[in-house]
Amino acid sequence: MSMLVVGSVALDSLETPFGVRKDVPGGSATFFSTAASFFGPVQLVGVVGEDFPEEHVKFLADRGVDLAGLTRATGRTFRWSGRYGYDLNEAQTLDTQLNVFGEFRPELPASFRRPDFLFLGNIHPALQAQVLDQVEVRPKLVAMDTMNFWIEGTREKLLEVLARVDLLFINDAEVRQLSREHNVVKAARTILAMGPSRVVVKRGEYGALLFERDRVFAAPAYPLEEVFDPTGAGDSFAGGFMGFLANRGADLDADSLRQACVAGSTLASFCVERFSLDRFRDLSRKEIDERLAAFRSLTDFRPIA
Ligand code: AMP
Repeated sequence: MSMLVVGSVALDSLETPFGVRKDVPGGSATFFSTAASFFGPVQLVGVVGEDFPEEHVKFLADRGVDLAGLTRATGRTFRWSGRYGYDLNEAQTLDTQLNVFGEFRPELPASFRRPDFLFLGNIHPALQAQVLDQVEVRPKLVAMDTMNFWIEGTREKLLEVLARVDLLFINDAEVRQLSREHNVVKAARTILAMGPSRVVVKRGEYGALLFERDRVFAAPAYPLEEVFDPTGAGDSFAGGFMGFLANRGADLDADSLRQACVAGSTLASFCVERFSLDRFRDLSRKEIDERLAAFRSLTDFRPIA
């Protein structure tokens, strides 16, 4: 089934306790499409500037990402710089430069207008809405992501988009900020009352919670000995989650959504093992399948009498 993502395509500068990287490929659409590409084809809508290295475009194209919706505009590429301390769960934004995103008006090629699955990645909510407006047939699933930058700066527009989607991916600090509830369960319930019928709360090394109106599912994060760079973990989770569902053509029943959570956790666990996209460069389908199986033994236990 077809899958479309709109989001940022970025050059990130990162500081973690394990090293520093400058102007490496990043962005919500980049991580999402790379992770989803392990399950099937993805169409990408985004913008880069004149300075975006061609090798990063080639990497996405080689992974089978359809880049007919990637514009190269005059100016500099979107840049984000962030720092993580020893608590890798919390990114501190040092700088955000919108650059070519400031003027960007997404235009969907004709072949992109009927996606079965649509992911509105972390980006200005007005751009998310513009993409949603151009879709000609209601997709099977519309999901979105966002972050503190947009919750603080563009709250009203964000709430409008939220009312139009089926699923929100969000991290725990941001779900509190958006809902104005401290407790994560109450926060998720508040979001469910705002429009989406599902909320996935991403909790870094503590895993993810999927909330539906009458059910909750918890997927752990894979216990890794070495985590180098958490950047992109959330988008890789979403890419694994939606890529899995699109590839199965699965009904969005409870079992499929639970499996999708584990697929998301699996792709996120690979993402954080190296900086930027590096772990995805040589990742094989066999390694993914082995880790999916490892998740099963990680969470399997006999019913308690
Ligand atoms: P995450 O998966 O949440 O770690 O997302 C990390 C990616 O989000 C980074 O590669 C950044 O380039 C991108 N990003 C950071 N801030 C923004 C923003 N305000 N708008 C769009 N993308 C952003």
